[in-house]
Amino acid sequence: MPLQTAARASIGKCMSSIQFYNAVQRDLLVPWKPVVSEIFKTRNSLFVGDRGVLILEPRVGIYENVGEIDFESLFGNIMLKKNISSETINCKCCQASDTLVPELRYHICNRRIGIVPESLKLLLNKRHQYSKLLKTTTNKSKLEIYKQRKAVLKWILVTSFGYLGFNNAKFGRIDAHMSVCAFARKILLDAIHIAEKEGFAVLHGIVDSIWIQKKRSHKKRLYITWN
Ligand SMILES: [Zn+2]
Repeated sequence: MPLQTAARASIGKCMSSIQFYNAVQRDLLVPWKPVVSEIFKTRNSLFVGDRGVLILEPRVGIYENVGEIDFESLFGNIMLKKNISSETINCKCCQASDTLVPELRYHICNRRIGIVPESLKLLLNKRHQYSKLLKTTTNKSKLEIYKQRKAVLKWILVTSFGYLGFNNAKFGRIDAHMSVCAFARKILLDAIHIAEKEGFAVLHGIVDSIWIQKKRSHKKRLYITWN
């Protein structure tokens, strides 16, 4: 999208434009209207799958030695690393795929990279580069510019997750949106278990962050990564 058009466009429009660009590069037709329908769900599968993210009720009280662990661009990275897009969830080409969405048990394509993850690469790479620059730059005016660019990229990434569940998005699908939430719940739950195993008490958790308190642990740092 030309800069003059992008300056007057919404975040969703800019993000869709990246997806259309990638679709055109692959010789794919961009649907005039979204045509991918929702996967049929029983009452039970809807109950299991349609639950959003994980939130732990905070333990009320005053605590010392508390730290926050926050995943970098968790939702964007889930879409990228797990290849989540409207056309990759329960695809026809790899029905025997062993890459499954937790709880929902949808399979994910392992032959083609989806349009959504393909389009996220640019945003995630740029955001990661700005995070690195923020740690190494000392020039104050540049720091401010990097900070703002990083924030803009964050909101584009947030939008791209929202668009997966938006019924007017050309490459969106509610099942893909639910799959991202299912992975996010599992990752946060795994992080909680790791922190507890390492001797920390988990005081609160929400979406992609946990607040932990040092109890019997002697560790100065705790890193949690996921694949
Ligand atoms: Zn496939």
